This record gives sequence, C-alpha cells and structure tokens, in this order.
Amino acid sequence: MRMRAAVLEEFGEPLVVQELELTEPKRGEALVRLEACGVCHTDLYTASGVDPSGYAPTVLGHEGAGVVEAIGPEVGSLTVGDHVVTLFSPQCGECVHCRDERTNLCLAIREQQNKGYLPDGTTRLRRDGEEIRHFMGTSTFAEYTVMPEIALAKVNPEAPLDRACLFACGLSTGLGAAMNTAKVRAGSTCVVFGAGMVGLGAVAGCRLQGAERIICIDLSEERLELARGQGATETMIGGDGVAERIVEGTDGFGADYTFEATGNVQVMRQAVESARMAWGLATMAGVAGKGETLDVVPRLLITGRRVAGSSFGGVKGREGVPMLIDRYLAGEIDVDPFISHRISLDEVNRGFELMEDQDGIRSVIQLN
Ligand SMILES: [Zn+2]
Ligand SMILES: [Zn+2]
Repeated sequence: MRMRAAVLEEFGEPLVVQELELTEPKRGEALVRLEACGVCHTDLYTASGVDPSGYAPTVLGHEGAGVVEAIGPEVGSLTVGDHVVTLFSPQCGECVHCRDERTNLCLAIREQQNKGYLPDGTTRLRRDGEEIRHFMGTSTFAEYTVMPEIALAKVNPEAPLDRACLFACGLSTGLGAAMNTAKVRAGSTCVVFGAGMVGLGAVAGCRLQGAERIICIDLSEERLELARGQGATETMIGGDGVAERIVEGTDGFGADYTFEATGNVQVMRQAVESARMAWGLATMAGVAGKGETLDVVPRLLITGRRVAGSSFGGVKGREGVPMLIDRYLAGEIDVDPFISHRISLDEVNRGFELMEDQDGIRSVIQLN
C-alpha cells in the first residue's frame, strides 16, 4: 500500500514527509493504522546525528497508537480492529528475560531491531524499490506501520488513542521507574530530578505508590507547576548544592527514593548523593550521552545507598502498558496536561523545534 511518512534522509536535516510503499505484514506481524504519535527526545537525538548507532534513511517515531488493520500468518493474540500501543521494547513472553520477573529487556528481536529491520531481517518500507529502514522497530511518524505482534500492546478501546500514545515511551518510563524498578513503599520520601515527560511520570508513579513526600526538581518554574499537578508535594529549582539541601530537608539523612530523569550525569550524581544512607535507592531513568560516566563516591554505596537503572520503567510492555492505561481510564493518572501541542504529520519538524525550545512537554502528531 501507499502511505505518507516522515523520513530522516540526512542527519541534521529536517525530516521529509513523503509517500512510501508499505508491504503486507508477514508471519507474526500486524499492519496498524496509526492515529497518534508523540514526538520524543530520542527521535530528535537520532535525527541530529549525535547517536552513533543511528542510520538513514529511516522513518522515525516510536510513541504510536492505532488500530490493527490486518494481520499476517500465525498471529494469535491480535485481531483486526484491536486498539494497540506500539512498543520499542517488546515482550515475546518466551525468552529467558521475559520469563524472569526481574527485567523487561526482551531478547527476542534486539539484534535486527537495532539495525533497522523487522525480526526476519528485512524491511516492509520501500521507496521506488529502495529499502527504507524501520526505527526502533516502530516507525510511527507515518499513517501506517507494520510491526511484530510481540511489539504491540492491546489496550482498552475506550482510551483515546491521542492519550494512549504517551504510554508508548516517556510516561510509562516514569511511572514504571517508581512502580516497578524502585517499587516505592507507601509513606516514603521521594525526590524526582527533572520534570519532563519521564520525571512527571515518576512523580505520578510515586503518588500512586502512596509516597508521603514527593520533591520535584527542575530548572523551569512552569514545569514544576505541572509536577505539583501530578502530585509533587514540594518543588525546588535545581543547580549546585541541591543534594545538600535535600539531605538537610530530610532530617539529615536523604530521601528513601530518588529518580533521575534528565540524562545529565551531574544530576545523576546528585540523585545518588541525595539518597538516604542505609537504604536509599537512586533510580536512573534518563539516558546519558555516549561515553559519559557517573561519578560516585564508593563510601555512599558502602553505607547502604543503591543505584538502579530503569529502561522503559521496567515495564513488560504487552502486560504492563494495558494495566497503566486502565489506571488512566480509572482517573488515577492525569494525562491531558502532558499534551502541549497537537500537530499534523506535515508539521513534524515543528515538533522538534518546540522540543528544542523546551516549549511544553509533548507534541502529539494526529495521524489519520
Ligand atoms: Zn521516547
Ligand atoms: Zn522476550
């Protein structure tokens, strides 16, 4: 079929919206008519050319939601008409990681996905016979996509898809960091560094876990206002000396749980330093630049602080995303404040500009 998509042709150049050929889903794959897609920092990171593992040409986008339009052979868990959220982090249910409750890092299709191919090592995207690669296994800056069944989460059809798409990446990452990775205990004190999509999700996750104090730190007063809306009980402008201020403000001990959601290694260090001695857990949800390292004084660890990493919030996508969306539908997660701009596919580059200007939390592209 013919469809429109935003193609990264050259690193550092604007995406080019154009018609591409999308071939039929093969074994274990589904064709999805996309309704909405969030514009995420990872898309911009790849488009800029800074990501050393990036490739072009490719169709970017990984925060998609839509409706299953067709299925290939041997698809058992999806049918035409199902509402789905796309997963860059799949859940095959069979690999050694999927069978273990300690991780969500499915091993099934990593290798091909990282190279821009579907699991059989080919692409469904073409332009005049030329192969166009898939991005993060999703390629959702497009009217349609073909994806593996194991990378599609079937969600409650009552969830508006322009909200559901936010659960495909940043929001679930933040919520899951608090709920799955840290497993925040009720009554505890939490600190969240960064009030972007991931940090705000972490604030909401701490609230859902019953945290008593949630301190959110950011450089923007506007974003801290949003953090208060998600359940932050205190807010603070970030910078030097923040870790000391947190330790002082928590009876000299530090917080039970800290979360890093900026990707800045200096802030990661602050997250470790403001975790409580004896049991403080510092969870890293932000992605640092290639080659950067986290500087930690080992004494902080000997005295009981722990450091954890969290990818996609530790959420096993096919099970976890539908559960989070049900909690949204139950009124427990306020998603609307995250959507700052609604744009068309043709305006995708404006979505990047808004992000670079730090204007709002998320631009959502309305497709179809
Ligand atoms: Zn993302
Ligand atoms: Zn797996």
